[in-house]
Amino acid sequence: MTKPVPTLTLNDGHTIPQLGFGVFKVDPDETTRIVRDALDVGYRHIDTAAIYGNEAGVGTALAESGIARDELFITTKLWNDRQGTETAFAAFDESLDKLGLDYVDLYLIHWPTPAKDTYVESWKALEKIRESGRARSIGVSNFLVPHLQRLLQETDIVPAVNQIELHPAHQQLDVTALARENGVQIEAWGPLGQGKYPLFETQVIVAAAEQHGKTPAQVVIRWHLQTGNIVFPKSNRRERMIENFDVLDFELTPTEVTMISALERAGRVGGHPNDIN
Ligand code: NDP
Repeated sequence: MTKPVPTLTLNDGHTIPQLGFGVFKVDPDETTRIVRDALDVGYRHIDTAAIYGNEAGVGTALAESGIARDELFITTKLWNDRQGTETAFAAFDESLDKLGLDYVDLYLIHWPTPAKDTYVESWKALEKIRESGRARSIGVSNFLVPHLQRLLQETDIVPAVNQIELHPAHQQLDVTALARENGVQIEAWGPLGQGKYPLFETQVIVAAAEQHGKTPAQVVIRWHLQTGNIVFPKSNRRERMIENFDVLDFELTPTEVTMISALERAGRVGGHPNDIN
């Protein structure tokens, strides 16, 4: 019997499955098939975004699955060009409509876009959306220390999560420390380094994989779970969806976790949050 996916409690009392499935760069035409496969494999937490262009495909797969709404955890995100107040409300309505849902579990500001200086205003719009009940939880993504500090100082609701690029070679320890001190859970995007960083050939990861009879990808996902991150690796391929989900029956030793954490190299594979506006 497979163990259940662990859950974490958010600072608003809602729970979130720690392991989910992401759909960045999943072709809109293939999304329904891919999300259907992911649900079939056992994933119940799906991470999408307006900019991915595939919310409608996600919604179709959810509707066709027949899975009870309260067993699902669905996240989407406000794109940069819709930051503001009325624009954010309208963008949120469009996302809900495309997903075919009455509410999302989590709605995020996708990037801080500091050059525009609209993230505080946008966050206040998300606070209203949460009050309406149509987003159970609200959070941010790609927020660096100064952006998080400003929200903590100038707004009422502490974000439930900060979704940031995070994998063994790029751990953003300053951001995670500030977040965790303030009860903000960390979601790790690019948890496998997007296949761009050679994590799967790194000796300590390969050695741990051999030790546990697992693959390097499974070791990396396990490291995320044991260090408290929420993860949703993406794959178009069903066999990898199965592989990435099959991480609940083994545990890395504290030494293995420490050795993998020591791979920190400031090895960012995605864009810098200050540059994306
Ligand atoms: P991941 O780190 O999940 O890597 C995905 C890549 O790894 C794909 O090329 C996939 O290829 C490959 N892969 C998946 N599983 C395996 C495996 N077991 N062995 C070998 N290769 C594998 O990167 P993502 O960028 O997709 O991050 C995950 C999710 O995070 C996204 O889908 C999205 O939901 C979110 N995200 C959020 C961002 C933000 O700004 N907030 C930015 C980027 C991502 P294949 O599909 O061919 O299997």
